[in-house]
Amino acid sequence: MACAQKLLYTASPNLMPLTLLILGGGAAGFFAAITAAETDANAQVILLEKSRQLLAKVRVSGGGRCNVTHACFDPAVLAQNYPRGGEALRGPFTRFGPRETVAWFESRGVRLKTEPDGRMFPVTDDAQTIVNCLIDSARRAGVEIRTEAGIESVERSESGFEIRLRDGEGVRGDRVQLQQVALNLVLNAMDAMRESGTRDRILVLRAARAGAKTIRVEVRDSGVGINEGDMAKIFQTFYTTKPDGMGIGLAITRSIVDVHGGRLEAHNNPDGGATFSFTLPIGHDGGHDGGHDGP
Ligand SMILES: Cc1cc2nc3c(=O)[nH]c(=O)nc-3n(C[C@H](O)[C@H](O)[C@H](O)COP(=O)(O)OP(=O)(O)OC[C@H]3O[C@@H](n4cnc5c(N)ncnc54)[C@H](O)[C@@H]3O)c2cc1C
Repeated sequence: MACAQKLLYTASPNLMPLTLLILGGGAAGFFAAITAAETDANAQVILLEKSRQLLAKVRVSGGGRCNVTHACFDPAVLAQNYPRGGEALRGPFTRFGPRETVAWFESRGVRLKTEPDGRMFPVTDDAQTIVNCLIDSARRAGVEIRTEAGIESVERSESGFEIRLRDGEGVRGDRVQLQQVALNLVLNAMDAMRESGTRDRILVLRAARAGAKTIRVEVRDSGVGINEGDMAKIFQTFYTTKPDGMGIGLAITRSIVDVHGGRLEAHNNPDGGATFSFTLPIGHDGGHDGGHDGP
């Protein structure tokens, strides 16, 4: 089978930092990603670009020199240059106009010069200066940049958004077995939260890339957590912490993950409860779903 790869991004401020996806690695995407990452240092900002090259249009902009902005510092006057939509642009130009643009680049070591007609270019006369500045700023701010990551669809889900990539990559494996793995972890999490007796029962299911060739699925609960003494034994056959348990669920779960070339792990969350996660290798499969192929 080929489970089409899905990345589920959640925004659960109580449990984990905000995860923000920026779609498109052009000038707008970079500026948004840098601003977001610099505004919230805890946020995980990921920029997804479908092509191999970042900032492709910036490289050729202004005849290869990049006309960054215009030396017109009055938002009302500047807006008059846009007969269609000028009114709508007055607000944005007031909040972040040419003056702020010049300062933004200067604070990053890029000086701009003004030509007689008012156009502003980097003093280097080279668009690569702007490309380097945007990429360096994004990296310094901790933005995770992924190329060849075209987005096929974006759908709203209960806990955030579900993003489907169009690169045809998928996880090869037995669909029923992998469903059992996820279901077993979810049922365990629900049992752990029932045992804890707390009113805040929060279960977070998260799937995301954990590297170029790996996907990680996490099941995080707000339950009783795992006794440190049990941690080393919970995956052993016939070992159970449940009064009516047989001690085979997690052992089977681990062997299924092992057979698929992945790894099952568990840890206690710093703020209570436990997280079970498993990795699976990603491969190109043409995107079809061909039944229970096995790995
Ligand atoms: C020849 C030329 C010269 C120009 N010169 C200037 C200039 O000097 N100054 C100026 O201000 N403007 C110039 N422009 C306009 C310039 O293109 C824009 O200012 C700027 O590049 C727009 O940036 P953007 O991020 O909005 O869009 P884009 O640069 O088009 O970026 C969008 C990005 O999203 C990616 N993408 C699209 N769909 C998906 C998907 N499904 N999944 C993932 N990624 C996706 C694309 O590959 C692209 O990299 C020029 C344009 C051209 C063509």
